[in-house]
Amino acid sequence: MGNRQAELVWLNGRMVPKQEAFITPDDRGFLFADGVYEVVRWYGNFFLGMDGHQKRLRRSLAEMRLDGFDVEEFPSVCQQLLEVNQLQSEEALVYLEITRGASPRTHHFPVQPVPPTVYGFARRFQPDKHAGVAGVVIALLPDIRWMRCDIKSVSLLGNVLSYQQAKERGLFECIFHRDGLITEASHSNILFVRNGVLFTHPESPLILSGITRGIVLQLAADLGISISLEPVPLADLYTCDEAFLSGTSVEVLPVVEIEGRKIGDGTPGKITRQLQEAFKQLIIQRGIEFVRPIPPVINF
Ligand code: PLP
Repeated sequence: MGNRQAELVWLNGRMVPKQEAFITPDDRGFLFADGVYEVVRWYGNFFLGMDGHQKRLRRSLAEMRLDGFDVEEFPSVCQQLLEVNQLQSEEALVYLEITRGASPRTHHFPVQPVPPTVYGFARRFQPDKHAGVAGVVIALLPDIRWMRCDIKSVSLLGNVLSYQQAKERGLFECIFHRDGLITEASHSNILFVRNGVLFTHPESPLILSGITRGIVLQLAADLGISISLEPVPLADLYTCDEAFLSGTSVEVLPVVEIEGRKIGDGTPGKITRQLQEAFKQLIIQRGIEFVRPIPPVINF
């Protein structure tokens, strides 16, 4: 660390040194995990899918009936977090959490409205390049989570306990099955290719509608790949030709083995590679768009 400047975080409308950012134990985020969050990726000069993240945050807050945070402020808070931590020209992740604020512990919402607690940080981040090339090995576990996985809530105990099991077994991620169908992964979405068709669970209360999942489906449609928004039955898992994860941190990440059984020939699949490349090109293109100088005005 040396003389590197202390990390600054956003807490309730101000930037403060992280070691001075205190939250009361009465905070409902602490007591009940009563809050929502978003994570956006900064690629050195632009946020990928900011509109989608903003829209999802607005939806999560509405579904939780959590008022008092102006979602219009989200991009500016993210930008400020990068600036004060000198991360503008780096690759980074920005995290923002909003809880139902502080109030003596009762299950019902505070009777007298209290302001939400808003906490944000930015962190330097780059995905594991090797994993992107070789693909990853993952676990398969029962989906023990609640029935509102569409809300990006900080109540992540089912995800945490499951992912910990995968990690202790040296695995990269875990995917879940519920009622005989594959839902998603602990902190990413899962997509499959079978006979040339791209399959993934439809948007529903049983999955988080990933912003990256949406981008990948758009890229697939642009490439003329057939898409089926149907969950893959557990029984068909090992007859899929390809599998990959999508997410803000993992981008498009090939899965080559699940629970010790190979997917396809055990190497990243062709359509997966195609989508990985399209995603990479999208990032390059977006980056160029963001630094492109304003064209001179042409007078006729
Ligand atoms: N599913 C879950 C449970 C997640 O936690 C995440 C991201 O954190 C995703 C899917 C992927 O969503 P996104 O692409 O918006 O990062």
